[in-house]
Formats: sequence, structure tokens, C-alpha cells
Amino acid sequence: MSSKKRVCIVGSGNWGSAIAKIVGNNVMEKSDKFEKEVKMWVFEEMVNGRKLTEIINQDHENVKYLPGFKLPENVVAIPDVKDSAEGADILIFVLPHQFVRGVCKQLKGKVNDGATAVSLIKGFDVAEGGGILLISSVIRDQLGVPCAALMGANIANEVAMENYCEATIGCKDMKYGPLLKELFQTNYFRIVVIEDETTVEVCGALKNIVAVGAGFADGLGYGDNTKAAVIRLGLMEMVKFCEVFYPESQQGTFLESCGVADLVTTCYGGRNRRVAEAFVKTGKSIEELEKEMLNGQKLQGPPTAFEVNYMLKNKNMEERFPLFTAIHKICKKETDVKQFMDCLKNHPEHM
Ligand code: NAD
Ligand code: 13P
Ligand code: CA
Repeated sequence: MSSKKRVCIVGSGNWGSAIAKIVGNNVMEKSDKFEKEVKMWVFEEMVNGRKLTEIINQDHENVKYLPGFKLPENVVAIPDVKDSAEGADILIFVLPHQFVRGVCKQLKGKVNDGATAVSLIKGFDVAEGGGILLISSVIRDQLGVPCAALMGANIANEVAMENYCEATIGCKDMKYGPLLKELFQTNYFRIVVIEDETTVEVCGALKNIVAVGAGFADGLGYGDNTKAAVIRLGLMEMVKFCEVFYPESQQGTFLESCGVADLVTTCYGGRNRRVAEAFVKTGKSIEELEKEMLNGQKLQGPPTAFEVNYMLKNKNMEERFPLFTAIHKICKKETDVKQFMDCLKNHPEHM
């Protein structure tokens, strides 16, 4: 049996496609370590009268989610997630977090013994009994495989343009760290591997909530100083969230790309920020704007704010995270966005 690793990408949205470009090229270059064919699961849909899988396999472009960039020809689009994962040694999970449970359910019992996973997914899963789970732990529990996390300041289109950027792989089991780094690193996409898997993943999830707050501040007409305050207060709540709920978390991780850097890029260039700004300016709902502005791409910030609030409320801890709480309530239109400034002015960080 070949010792080369077979790679599967579970997901093919905006980030999934940008990652497919990197991984597809890397396995070709490192064909001593990886099988050349990379199967990519594509949630099938019709685009301009053709199946999206067919478009990707014939034209080598995901014209809906990453238009304008060619995908390597060894990336093969597969409409059935079980078929895509069959025989895979490395499973890259990269889909909007709200769909993870459904996809894992289909994969249960179908994954290779000895396979390993890495999650690029930002968000949480709400657990019965009032808590939340990390997405990697859902993957781990459902599929019985180890699961690392790759997060960073990585707006997908900029990565697809091959502009220099960095990412962090959090990998508790260092057996897999170097292999994952080989799979993802390029000369313009630089990877640091650390053991603090949990903080890497929590940072990636929480910064999307803060980005929604940055968009509110922009929509209200405030400038860069105000946005910097949102970023700072958001960061303080991210740090506190880790201290309270993940005591094993290490503060140094916030200085990796998955921490402050991702927070900054998302608060300036991300989809969550953009839609939140439009939310203030138009008065439409988040759901409406997501449909109007994103052409099928999915926002992660508002649902993540909901998931975090679900836990905080159950633990009677909403006031300890006033920014996260206000952002959730504004998204749900339970609080008027005009009160967002009061939340900043009265934040416990300056009491
Ligand atoms: P996306 O926002 O482009 O979402 C669209 C994808 O969701 C498409 O592949 C679509 O087929 C799929 N989809 C739609 N309905 C579905 C369903 N019912 N079941 C399963 N799949 C369905 O996705 P993305 O940008 O690749 O994001 C995936 C994850 O990566 C997210 O957690 C995101 O936060 C994270 N991420 C995104 C970026 C970015 O710049 N886009 C960067 C870093 C991390
Ligand atoms: P948005 O989903 O807000 O575009 O953020 C993308 C991202 O996670 C960049 O690292
Ligand atoms: Ca370091």
C-alpha cells in the first residue's frame, strides 16, 4: 500500500476554493508525500444552467464562489460527500459552520481508520444543556478522528491573488503538525504551527462577532479611532472568554496570525463588517442582506454571536461580555444599533 497521503477537501465556498488552489498545487509539488488527486466535496447546485461540479471539473473554476481564479486540474469536484471522503487520510473541513453537523452525520462511519482532520471553520456548535462546542470537537466526536485547526488573517480573495499572508495551525498532537504545514504552506502563505489548538480556534470564531461591531461603527458614521476601540474592546472580551471558558488557553496565541491579525483584517476587509455596515444604513435584516450582498456566501458573525449568547445567557454571564451581548441583540433587532455607542462608553474595561 502506498504511504502517500490522500487529501479530501470538505467544502468549496469562497475560502474552500482558495484553499483548494493552494492544496492542489502543493500536492503536485510534493508528490512524494501526497497523492496527486484531491477530491473536493461540492454542495451541488445549478449555475447558469450547468451543475457546479461539472463547471469546476471542465473549466477548473468555481465561478460562483471564487470567480476569476483557476483551480488546479488535479482538484476534482464530487457532489456526494461520502464519495469525496472515501479513502482519505487528511480531511480538510472548510464550510460554513452551520452545516457541519449535517455533513458529519453523513460521514459517520465512512472515514478511514487512521485518518486525520483539520478544521478551517469559524464558529461554534450549540450543545444541549446550554453550552457550546468547538467545531473541531464536533468533527472529532462524530468521526472519531483527531482534528487540528487552521486559522489566520486570510480574506479568501486576497489569498487567491497570492498576496503575502500568514496563518496559524493549532495542533495538539505534534505528530500531524509538520505534515499539515507541508500541505498548506507556500511562499506567500506562511504557516506557524503551535500546540494551543483551542485558542487558535476560539480566536477564529470570536473575531467574527467583533467584525460585526466594527461594521456597526462604520455604518453609524464613526471613523478609525472608534473602530480601533471596537477592535480593542473586542480583543479584551476574546481574551477574557478564553480565560473563563478555556483555562488551558495561552495568551501568546493572540499574537499569532489567528489572533490580533485576523481580528484586524476582518474588521477592515471582511464580509461580516460589510454586511453589518449595510445593516445600519439600510435597516434591512441580516438575513436579507446576506442574500442580497453575498451571492450564496454565508456570514459567520451573527450566528456566532447567537451561539455565544446562548451560553452566556444560560450561565447568567451576559454582562461580563457586554460587546458580544450588544452585537447579538442588535443583529436580532432586540436593541437599536444607536445604543451600540453606549455599550462602548460604558464598557467595564474603563470603569
Ligand atoms: P462561503 O461563505 O463561501 O459559503 C458558501 C458555501 O456553503 C458554498 O460552498 C455552498 O455550496 C455551501 N452551502 C450552502 N448551503 C449549504 C448546505 N445546506 N449544506 C452544506 N453546504 C452548503 O464559505 P467559505 O468562505 O468557504 O467559508 C467556510 C468557512 O471558512 C467559514 O467558517 C468561514 O468563516 C471560514 N473562512 C472564510 C474566509 C473567507 O475569506 N471567505 C477566510 C477564512 C476562513
Ligand atoms: P469574513 O467572513 O468576515 O469575510 O472574514 C473572513 C475571514 O475569516 C478572514 O480570515
Ligand atoms: Ca510562536
